[in-house]
Amino acid sequence: MTPPPVASSRPIPKDHREGGGATARPSRADAEAAARTLICWAGDDPDREGLLDTPARVVRSYEEFFIGYSQDPEEILRTTFEETEGYDEMVVLKGIAFESHCEHHMVPIIGKASIAYLPNNRVVGISKLVRVLEAYAKRLQIQEKMTAQIANAINEVLNPKGVAVVVEAEHQCMTTRGVQKPGVAMVTSTMLGAFRDDASTRREFLAFIGRN
Ligand SMILES: [Zn+2]
Repeated sequence: MTPPPVASSRPIPKDHREGGGATARPSRADAEAAARTLICWAGDDPDREGLLDTPARVVRSYEEFFIGYSQDPEEILRTTFEETEGYDEMVVLKGIAFESHCEHHMVPIIGKASIAYLPNNRVVGISKLVRVLEAYAKRLQIQEKMTAQIANAINEVLNPKGVAVVVEAEHQCMTTRGVQKPGVAMVTSTMLGAFRDDASTRREFLAFIGRN
């Protein structure tokens, strides 16, 4: 089987909120008022008992869903180990579950990511790779961009011989609304360095993650 399509490896601007001009962060009360407005818009009464605490809960949920804006993926990767005993084979983390939110509808994207790199003297703790995924996932996202961001961050900080990221996810904007097609997963990948240039390295990685 041919490898999944190679997504753009174009570097992504460091500031995720492209275009700059980010408006000042509203207060918690403002955010709760906005959630209350959406309850009214949906057609319900925000003053009925079951909904009284909902705006506050929604805002607390948003703090978890979007914690990535306060995390710096490159900083996370900066603690590396050089004592590798000459290990220069591929490091692969496969099937890491993640939840994100699509930036077009603000509904969940739920999937799994596999991340690999070929060390160049330096390795990073595997939990750091998971945290980099989280830092990008816990933002408003499109899957293509998230895939490239993870690969680019690892590439820039670790300077490895290659990086590969494959993401497979279901988009609830597609499964619960719009065309309503449950069970359809989208697959994106970014291959850099040896994973892009060397077919056998790419094949080895795809075999590791069960995509050959
Ligand atoms: Zn969407």
